[in-house]
Amino acid sequence: MSEILLLVEAKDGILDKKTLELMRGAKGLGSQLGVEANAVVVGSQTAQLAESAASFGLDKVYRLEHPLLEGFNADAWVGGLEWLCGQVKPGIFLMSHSFVGKEVGPRLACRLNTGLTTDCLNLRVDPEDGLLVRTKPIYGGNAIATVKCEGVPQMVTVRKNAFEPIDEAQTRSAIVDMAPGIAESSIRVKTIQTVEQEVVELDKANVVISGGRGIEAKEDFEMLEALAAALSGSHGNVMVGCSRPVVDKCWMSSDRQVGLTGTIISPDAYIAVGISGAIQHLVGMIRSKKIVAINTDPGCNMFKVADYGVVGDYRDIVPALVKKLEER
Ligand SMILES: Cc1cc2nc3c(=O)[nH]c(=O)nc-3n(C[C@H](O)[C@H](O)[C@H](O)COP(=O)(O)OP(=O)(O)OC[C@H]3O[C@@H](n4cnc5c(N)ncnc54)[C@H](O)[C@@H]3O)c2cc1C
Repeated sequence: MSEILLLVEAKDGILDKKTLELMRGAKGLGSQLGVEANAVVVGSQTAQLAESAASFGLDKVYRLEHPLLEGFNADAWVGGLEWLCGQVKPGIFLMSHSFVGKEVGPRLACRLNTGLTTDCLNLRVDPEDGLLVRTKPIYGGNAIATVKCEGVPQMVTVRKNAFEPIDEAQTRSAIVDMAPGIAESSIRVKTIQTVEQEVVELDKANVVISGGRGIEAKEDFEMLEALAAALSGSHGNVMVGCSRPVVDKCWMSSDRQVGLTGTIISPDAYIAVGISGAIQHLVGMIRSKKIVAINTDPGCNMFKVADYGVVGDYRDIVPALVKKLEER
C-alpha cells in the first residue's frame, strides 16, 4: 500500500479541529500499515497554512497551489486533487465529513473510479487483507454498518470527534510544492459570494424549541422566540429550531434544522411545536433529556417519545405558556 493522504481544511488560516482529528487517525493507520501519513493543503497562497500543518509530525505536507484554487471552488478543488492523486497515488484518502468533504468526496471518487464511504465513525485496518474497515451509522443512526471497499484509493469522509485532535510534534513534516494544471474552462462556478450570517450552533443550546409544518405562518415563529426569551432567564441558552418543511419553505436557514440531515442535538429540554415525529426528525432530538410536545393530533408520533404532551393549538398553548413564565 502506498501513502495515506488527508485533505486539510482551515478557516481564516487556522486549521480546523476536524483536520487535527484526521491527522491523528491518519498517523495511526500509517503506523499500522507501515506507510507515510501525508496531508494536502489546497489554495492559492498556502505557505503559512502549510507551515502550520507541518507542525504535527506527519511525513509530508503537499502544497497544492494554483490561483484558481483560492477560496473553495469545488470544480477547481476536485480537478486539483484528481491531479495530485494521479501524481502521488495514495492508498487511502481521508476527508472530514464537512461541507468541503461532502462536496469534494463523491465527485473525486467518481473521477478516480473508486468507492467512497461517508460519515465514518471509526476506521481500522483489517490485518488479513490490509483493507480499511469503516463503521458508519445507517437507518438514521439505528444501526451501525461495517464497510470494506476494494477501490483505490480507499476514500472516506470521517465524522467529527471520531479521533482525538493530534498534538503538536517535535518533528516537522517536509513541505512539498505541487503545481497542478487546472483548465479555467473546467470550472463552471465563476464567482463565489460569501454571505455573512449569524452562526447558529443548535447543539450548544440548553433548550431547543422547534416549530414544524404545523406552524401556519412564518410570523408565528415569533411566538416561539417569545417562549425562548421567557425561558432563557432560568434555562440558559435557549434557541429556536425547526423541522425540515420549515427550511424547505425558506422560513429558516438549514443550520436550524433538527434531524438526520440537520443537526443532531441532546439539550436538557426539547419542545416540539407542530411537529409530527417522523423518524428523520426523531433521530436528531431523541437524546434530549426531557421532551415536550405541543400538537393538535393526540395520535402523533411525537407524543410517543415525549415526557410531557399538550394536545392543542400552538396559537393557544404557546402564548399561555409565555404568560405563565412571565408571571413567575
Ligand atoms: C432522507 C430524508 C431526510 C430527512 N431529514 C429530515 C431532518 O433532518 N429533519 C426533519 O425534520 N425532517 C427530515 N425529513 C423529513 C421527514 O420525513 C418529515 O417529512 C418531516 O420531519 C415532517 O416535518 P413536520 O413534523 O414538521 O411536518 P408534519 O409531518 O406535516 O407534521 C405537522 C404536525 O403539526 C401538527 N399541527 C398542525 N396544526 C397544528 C397546530 N395549529 N398546533 C399544533 N400542532 C399542529 C399536525 O398534527 C402534525 O403532527 C427527511 C426526509 C428524508 C426522506
